[in-house]
Amino acid sequence: MDLHLTPEQTAFREEVRAFIAQRLPAEIRDRLRRGMPPRRQDTVAWQRMLNERGWAAPNWPREHGGAGLGITEQLLLIDELALANAPQPLVFNISMLGPALIRFGTDAQKRELLPRLASLDLWFCQGFSEPGAGSDLASLKTTATREGDFYTLQGQKIWTTGAHNADWMFALVRTEKLPRKQDGISFLLIDLRSAGVRIRPITTLDGMHHVNEVFFDQVRVPLANIVGTEGHGWSVAKYLLEHERTTIVNVGQCRERLAYARTLARHVSLGNTSLAGDAAMQLELAWLDAEVRALEITTWRFLTDTAQAPASWASLLKLKGVDLYQQIMALLARIAGPDGMERIALEGANPSEWQAPLIPRYFHSRASSIAGGSSEVQKEIIAKLTLG
Ligand SMILES: Cc1cc2nc3c(=O)[nH]c(=O)nc-3n(C[C@H](O)[C@H](O)[C@H](O)COP(=O)(O)OP(=O)(O)OC[C@H]3O[C@@H](n4cnc5c(N)ncnc54)[C@H](O)[C@@H]3O)c2cc1C
Repeated sequence: MDLHLTPEQTAFREEVRAFIAQRLPAEIRDRLRRGMPPRRQDTVAWQRMLNERGWAAPNWPREHGGAGLGITEQLLLIDELALANAPQPLVFNISMLGPALIRFGTDAQKRELLPRLASLDLWFCQGFSEPGAGSDLASLKTTATREGDFYTLQGQKIWTTGAHNADWMFALVRTEKLPRKQDGISFLLIDLRSAGVRIRPITTLDGMHHVNEVFFDQVRVPLANIVGTEGHGWSVAKYLLEHERTTIVNVGQCRERLAYARTLARHVSLGNTSLAGDAAMQLELAWLDAEVRALEITTWRFLTDTAQAPASWASLLKLKGVDLYQQIMALLARIAGPDGMERIALEGANPSEWQAPLIPRYFHSRASSIAGGSSEVQKEIIAKLTLG
């Protein structure tokens, strides 16, 4: 896209590109380019390199150990990471918990935790959803009862991304039952090595282990681990969810996956031509390209001036971004064709290296219109906030 960048912003983008080209290990880049998710060690190694450069937390102010970048520079950095197949900084640490601590945390919590979130010495996961409390999050039932200097936790979380990789969880729990269900909820930090925590894997449609159930049986959490005031965790959660919604799909990722589809189409033969020479394919690629550009312009327009954006801007970006991402992932799956069916092994199917991840990745992309608030729920928010 033709962005009107200042000379300083153009120089910053060049600096980011050069840094990634020089430091990103080829093994991580190739893995992500083939469509595989980063492994734990990939995210840790890369985030530490970014942290040494001062870029692990682009959105945090400098006094809290962040890069203190303006919004344009943040968008440039995130885009360049996606375009170069580099892992993004861990969203739970950097985009969600970090800003919440900076806004609601005590001085001790900021001092203790922020540096370790940036360096990934502590890996956090998000414990919000429960069976029966997803879209209707405020219906959550996990209880935290005060007993001396501790809360005692009883209950269950579900769909917890990366709990098996995490050291700690930030969670919403019920500390009091009040008539309005958003009241009486608190935001707690939980050490997952505590006695009484049990993590059970859930295997998703792509055959992989991304998400978990997490059970709490009389788990003791110090009172000092509350963020914000007791019973007012809903305000912390609302603040944090707005950040989550806009980070679920980034335009750079859509642009990179579309470029990959274009490259693969050139290498798949179709009779005596390549798939890229097929008129229907050309039309689809051109259409998706126009859609990515439109999303890119809209994202930049909303994020660089949120005061002028519609009130439902975060939901609009999530809804449109997810829809487009899923269309591109579906196109990649079709390019891989039936031979790409890795797990649902067809008789005689022998997926090549590039084909094998594409269909499982497409299956996994279906989850992005559920995670972080389903598309139906985003439409309700847009209807309420924008259409009245
Ligand atoms: C891959 C993945 C990763 C996730 N990671 C995490 C995580 O790390 N931490 C975490 O806390 N949670 C996580 N989640 C949970 C996610 O936030 C919830 O799944 C989501 O909010 C939907 O809640 P639910 O699953 O309970 O579905 P439900 O809320 O029961 O919804 C079921 C269906 O009903 C529809 N629906 C519900 N309410 C309405 C309404 N008012 N109007 C119209 N339609 C409606 C929904 O759109 C959906 O189609 C993850 C989910 C997935 C799939």
